[in-house]
Amino acid sequence: MKIALLAFQGDVSEHERAIESLGAEVRLVRRAGVIDSCDGIVIPGGESTTFMRLMRGEGVDQEIIEAKNRGKAIFGTCAGLVVLGRSRYGLGLINADVKRNAFGRQRESFEAMLDIPALGNEPFKAIFIRAPVMEQVGEGVEVLARIKEGVVLAREGNILASSFHPELVDDTRLYRYFLRMVEEGKSRG
Ligand code: GLN
Repeated sequence: MKIALLAFQGDVSEHERAIESLGAEVRLVRRAGVIDSCDGIVIPGGESTTFMRLMRGEGVDQEIIEAKNRGKAIFGTCAGLVVLGRSRYGLGLINADVKRNAFGRQRESFEAMLDIPALGNEPFKAIFIRAPVMEQVGEGVEVLARIKEGVVLAREGNILASSFHPELVDDTRLYRYFLRMVEEGKSRG
């Protein structure tokens, strides 16, 4: 299984380590021509405006849209969620209205233990850093976790989006969940 990891900026090496620890291969994406040979895509945290600019410059945004339409699984975390969601900063590939920097100065960065039934009974330690939330999600979107400010983990078909940073904790359950989505996409495609 090959995962295309957007590597324009952001916490790339932590994602790489987590994905490889589960036996999948990682291909770093800094230009067009890599995504096509991969089974799934991860868009890490960073700065969504920078991501969008660099992706557009390289034509990688079009490749992501194409991958989505072909049923490949795509996982966006934090800025990656902004890139996938609906706002003037994103591609609108998940039916969710996204608010960037949703927690303001007071809660720039914090941890929360989340109940995520889809991952089992153990709470998940979620790290939020200048995080976005999904303020409103449309039909077809499965809400996997929510806090008082909004939805922080959701899935719609082959798209998975989290407000928080799974690469910063040792718990690999969310990656395993994503890799199962990648498998499903492969067997469909
Ligand atoms: N605030 C950033 C943005 O909206 C996301 C922060 C992050 O990815 N840690 O692009």
